[in-house]
Amino acid sequence: MSAASNPITYPYEELNIDKAEIRAVEGMGLGLFATQDISAGELIFRDSPLLIMDDVRDINEFGDRYLSLPKNLVPYLDSGAISGERYERDVDAKTLQFHYWWTRKNEFAVDIDAQSDYWFPMIDKIVRAYSIFRNNAADADDGTEKSAFYPTFSRINHSCDPSAGWPIGPGPDYIVSIVARRDIPAGEQIFVTYSGTVSSTTTILNREERQDILSDWGFICSCTRCAPE
Ligand SMILES: [Zn+2]
Repeated sequence: MSAASNPITYPYEELNIDKAEIRAVEGMGLGLFATQDISAGELIFRDSPLLIMDDVRDINEFGDRYLSLPKNLVPYLDSGAISGERYERDVDAKTLQFHYWWTRKNEFAVDIDAQSDYWFPMIDKIVRAYSIFRNNAADADDGTEKSAFYPTFSRINHSCDPSAGWPIGPGPDYIVSIVARRDIPAGEQIFVTYSGTVSSTTTILNREERQDILSDWGFICSCTRCAPE
């Protein structure tokens, strides 16, 4: 599977997904809904990464990759879901590092006073994008440290009883396939799991362990398995 055969194109309005659509959901931001009956095992859509990181902890790599994104694609990352707590931590821990990255990139020739109108808002924007990336990126399951942000896949909400799986194909393309785990009737919201594999989410982890993992995304899961009776 090459990137060229991926049916997804940007922007969202031109997405060639005929079995599902992205809609606003009360309390969840956006979500993906089936627009037709989907059968178990059926491919719902494929998505290709907007940005792939070799190591998500490397802020130099993120800064460089973010700046090299085509301008028309930047909004798809910038509008991704953000977790308030994670964002506050990233602002505290990463802002200075991104300032150093920018200074090094400019070979220490930057004049803070002369550039501050441009520089400081730009660093704020990059820290925010970095936090969104971390909040939404999926890890490649190929023994590498790579993680990738998928503009459409990242809009799917979590459930501990997910209706779809999301195997990621091999590099360098890392195309993700969203595949129905069971029959999904038209109109139903489609869910995936964020807390590890489908089998660990559905059979191994208990409610408390799942909630602990999910707290990284800044929400308390209220799916059918987690919601109090
Ligand atoms: Zn849950």
